[in-house]
Amino acid sequence: EKKVLASAAKDLTPSYDWFQTDSLITVVIYTKQKDMNEELVIVDCQDKRLRGEIIMDDYSYLVEVDLDHAVSEEVAVNIAEKIGKVEIILKKKDNIHWKMLGQPWGCHNTFIKRTDRELFYRKCKLVSKTEVTHDTKLFCFMLPKGTHLRIPIGQHVYLKQIITGTEAVKPYTPVLPFLPLDFQETSHHDGVHIYLMIKIYSCGLFTQALDHLQIGDYVSVSNPEGNFKKSQVQASEDLILLAGGTGFTPMVKLLNFALTEVSCLRTAKLIFFNKTEDDILWRNELEQLALKDERFEVQFILSQPTKDWVGKQGKISSSLLSEFVKRSRKDSKVLICICGPTPFTEQGVQYLKNLGYSQEEIHAFTA
Ligand code: FAD
Ligand code: NAD
Repeated sequence: EKKVLASAAKDLTPSYDWFQTDSLITVVIYTKQKDMNEELVIVDCQDKRLRGEIIMDDYSYLVEVDLDHAVSEEVAVNIAEKIGKVEIILKKKDNIHWKMLGQPWGCHNTFIKRTDRELFYRKCKLVSKTEVTHDTKLFCFMLPKGTHLRIPIGQHVYLKQIITGTEAVKPYTPVLPFLPLDFQETSHHDGVHIYLMIKIYSCGLFTQALDHLQIGDYVSVSNPEGNFKKSQVQASEDLILLAGGTGFTPMVKLLNFALTEVSCLRTAKLIFFNKTEDDILWRNELEQLALKDERFEVQFILSQPTKDWVGKQGKISSSLLSEFVKRSRKDSKVLICICGPTPFTEQGVQYLKNLGYSQEEIHAFTA
């Protein structure tokens, strides 16, 4: 019986091979996983070094080689989703015959737990920086040509900078360049740009350094991480998003996905907690979206409003939640996502549980 188990485990381990034509090198990874997709393949090819990582549930398979000869900067990735075959296609710089793919290095040909895999960073160029509010900016970074990286909904990346001689790392959640007001515009997810909405704190170590970056400067961006599963929202009929401040960032892709791809979705509601009116991120865009899509509703709640604020005020509480968190029908499948300052998220989850929502119906975004 042991033998059978061992061979079954071996059969699940991906393998790789490579072949060439006069002008191309193709590295093929046989993942043996049926539902491969773009988000599960991360490729980086820079300065003759190729790194290809395949994410398979909680595991990661890695191909890491110092290539035998130089290749051009561009890399193409082909995925045969049903059979789980991934092709990484490189262009030879010189049309010569390669005797070998190259020298293995690092963790080449290993299949290990994702959590045991060291985070990989590549340098990305800052291409634009636009104001969102008085203290929050939308940063757009460009991936290098040799990188194939798609950040899944609900996941974050780490940014790394050297600040006064010391390496500093902080997590950020990619957003879209705008909300899905015009469906044609969504073709803007080009796989090349990463948009981050970041609040600059006046005493913030990392955000001050980010704010001082010039267009054209580089920042290291990691592979994605996070435990949100798209399937959670794919089945939901009522989506409720509770956001505090920049806790809005994971909600952007989530809302876009729900409104454009989830056919069973009946309602989507964002309850957005901020200190003042000036702090509300993408207020106009959210109001426009609510006008355009009748399934979507937004509620702003301020904790430090000025006297002329006629809307809701207060901090997250049982009474506010019981007023705004509701199923559209008695038996609807609901998903409640919550993200913001840690006490906000912790209190929110507790209130939701007290209101009778189950663990499976709640997703809290945390570090
Ligand atoms: P710090 O130097 O750490 O301090 C920031 C400010 O907050 C300072 O004014 C400081 O006085 C104060 N402060 C520090 N710690 C505390 C505390 N415990 N309680 C109260 N005040 C405190 N931020 C975004 O803007 N956009 C995002 O998309 C985003 N995504 C994130 C995703 C994840 C998974 C997590 C965990 C955090 C995310 N953050 C995001 C927050 C981000 O990682 C940083 O924490 C933030 O940018 C502040 O970094 P800093 O080094 O500039 O600030
Ligand atoms: P903020 O200080 O402007 O607060 C926004 C609102 O959150 C407040 O108006 C209030 O309603 C609520 N709030 C704040 N402190 C609270 C408390 N102690 N108890 C109850 N409610 C409270 O928020 P900010 O400066 O934009 O910070 C956003 C936070 O979200 C950061 O801590 C950031 O790390 C976190 N964040 C986490 C993730 C993640 O885990 N995936 C992603 C993005 C942001």
